[in-house]
Amino acid sequence: MVENEHLRQEMRRCEGELQELRAKPRSPCQACEHSQESAQLRDRLSQLQLEVAENKGVLSELNLEVQQKTDRLAEVELRLKDCLAEKAQEEERLSRRLRDSHETIASLRAQLPPVKYIIKTVEVESAKTKQALSESQSHSQHLQEQVAMQRQVLKEMEQQLQSSHQLTAQLRAQIAMYEAELERTHGQMLEEMQSLEEDKNRAIEEAFTRAQVEMKAVHENLAGVRTNLLTLQPALRTLTNDYNGLKRQVRGFPLLLQDALQSVKAEIGQAIAEVSSDNQELLRKYRRELQLRKKCHNELVRLKGNIRVIARVRPVTKEDGEGPEAANAVTFDSDDDSIIHLLHKGKPVSFELDKVFSPGASQQDVFQEVQALITSCIDGFNVCIFAYGQTGAGKTYTMEGSLENPGINQRALQLLFSEVQEKASDWEYTITVSVAEIYNEVLRDLLGKEPQEKLEIRLCPDGSGQLYVPGLTEFRVQSVEDINKVFEFGHTNRTTEFTNLNEHSSRSHALLIVTVRGVDCSTGLRTTGKLNLVDLAGSERVGKSGAEGSRLREAQHINKSLSALGDVIAALRSRQGHVPFRNSKLTYLLQDSLSGDSKTLMVVQVSPVEKNTSETLYSLKFAERVRSVELGPGTRRAELGSWSSQEHLEWEPACHTPSARAHSAPGSGSSSRPGSIRRKLQPSGKSRQVPV
Ligand code: ADP
Ligand code: MG
Repeated sequence: MVENEHLRQEMRRCEGELQELRAKPRSPCQACEHSQESAQLRDRLSQLQLEVAENKGVLSELNLEVQQKTDRLAEVELRLKDCLAEKAQEEERLSRRLRDSHETIASLRAQLPPVKYIIKTVEVESAKTKQALSESQSHSQHLQEQVAMQRQVLKEMEQQLQSSHQLTAQLRAQIAMYEAELERTHGQMLEEMQSLEEDKNRAIEEAFTRAQVEMKAVHENLAGVRTNLLTLQPALRTLTNDYNGLKRQVRGFPLLLQDALQSVKAEIGQAIAEVSSDNQELLRKYRRELQLRKKCHNELVRLKGNIRVIARVRPVTKEDGEGPEAANAVTFDSDDDSIIHLLHKGKPVSFELDKVFSPGASQQDVFQEVQALITSCIDGFNVCIFAYGQTGAGKTYTMEGSLENPGINQRALQLLFSEVQEKASDWEYTITVSVAEIYNEVLRDLLGKEPQEKLEIRLCPDGSGQLYVPGLTEFRVQSVEDINKVFEFGHTNRTTEFTNLNEHSSRSHALLIVTVRGVDCSTGLRTTGKLNLVDLAGSERVGKSGAEGSRLREAQHINKSLSALGDVIAALRSRQGHVPFRNSKLTYLLQDSLSGDSKTLMVVQVSPVEKNTSETLYSLKFAERVRSVELGPGTRRAELGSWSSQEHLEWEPACHTPSARAHSAPGSGSSSRPGSIRRKLQPSGKSRQVPV
């Protein structure tokens, strides 16, 4: 208790000190490391105080327990004392009775006779006494046991007291430890505060000395600036003068600028005028070049002939069968690609055309030959390309081709697209296509809503003499996809109309009419060129098959239109005043594209096999005649005179009737020897260059 009291006093003292410390002004540097540490220490202190308070509570509890135990002990000791006193009394009483009994026994022994009795009584009495003795002994035993028990309890209590003493000692040691720690912390805190104070003082001193030094420097600077200011004043004065002078100049500047601008404007205007005159000059030159190009191109085409004829021999196919009938009857000249040799009925016949394509020639090779014609269409020329020949000779292959390997039709449109694209900066072009067919002298629109409807060819009401087909559908095309769509549409229309398309197409003329309209953006000049791509009906003479009825009628129509084509070309060739365009729908429709500046290309398709040699011979003769139309005027007149009478017969529509055909078979008359005609008509390359 005394120690507890002592501890309490000490704690109070500590708290007082702590209070004092807290009351002291806080260190200026709150954020510094020391203040953090002191805060930590303070926390630790409060923690320790808490622990001390706890310990105090425990101690007081223990004290209370000790008190209770001490009280109980005192009580037990009191009871033990009572018991001991009781026991001593009893012992004394018993020992007194024992002594009395012994005395009695001794006196009785002295009086022997009655001794026995006495002994007996004594013995009797002694037994009673013994019983009392044993009772008191057992009582004493019981008391001793109780005493032992009490002693045990006492011992335990002493042990408890001892352990509580030990605990107290431990707690005391702990308190001492905490106090020591508190002391140490307090000492640390004091030290830190001391060092912080010193730091603060040092910093203040340093700042003060630094401020003094800076102040001195500032004073010095100020003195320098003052002297500078004194020297700058004259400079400022001169600057002000300069500024005023400049201001005066600036006032005059707009006038100066205006003058300069005017002169520059004049210069620029002059330069622009020069450039525009240069431009005009360039434009003029460009137009001249364009004209020249057109002329050159025209000349080139003209040199090649306005009506050119080429032959294309297709390869022998599976459909030709086997055996001598399918043997090859066509050979070529390795040195001259315009010659073709045919072995007909054992006799060799040769023809010269503008070009002959052997079976190995590709679609591109053939197209290469015709592309100059196609581009002339952009310059406003009308062009006709015909595929002529017997059925199965490859007309459709050359004109349409397959999807993977297209023929002239698609390639021509593709070329037109790319050419038009190239000229897009100066010209605006629109390309439209119409697809039509002529069957039994009836013209049908294959792109129309009603393909079975008959179309008429009319003269333009504007009096230009141009022809047009009212109701003929024109589709504007801009890409290969468009072309394919148009072709597919036309094809579908043709297929739905006729059950046997192959047969039908061999008996009708299929026409693809491409119109290229252009406007020169700078001059507004307009051009229109028409490209007619015609897959003609099969040229085979129907007499061979001995057809009747509708087949005969078809054949007659075909013959009529093919003959009319021949007649028209003949009339053009001989420059007759009257050209019989109206003799067939085909020539009438193509009137614009066959006359005047127009260019015509005839691709004569040839089957190479033995069984077709008659038709091949017939086709090649037709080809050579068509070709010979295009000669220089002098030559032409001179040459025409020598063979026109015979040839004219060949052009008569009636000549194509089966009976007439028989007379015009190869070998009859001079016309049956194409080689000789060739020699007569084209004695030299020069004659072909004479303009028409
Ligand atoms: P036409 O239209 O004159 O009746 P086609 O063009 O239908 O004849 O040709 C008949 C067959 O011969 C077709 O199967 C075609 O593919 C084939 N053919 C024609 N010319 C060639 C060629 N140059 N190369 C390969 N096959 C060809
Ligand atoms: Mg065909």
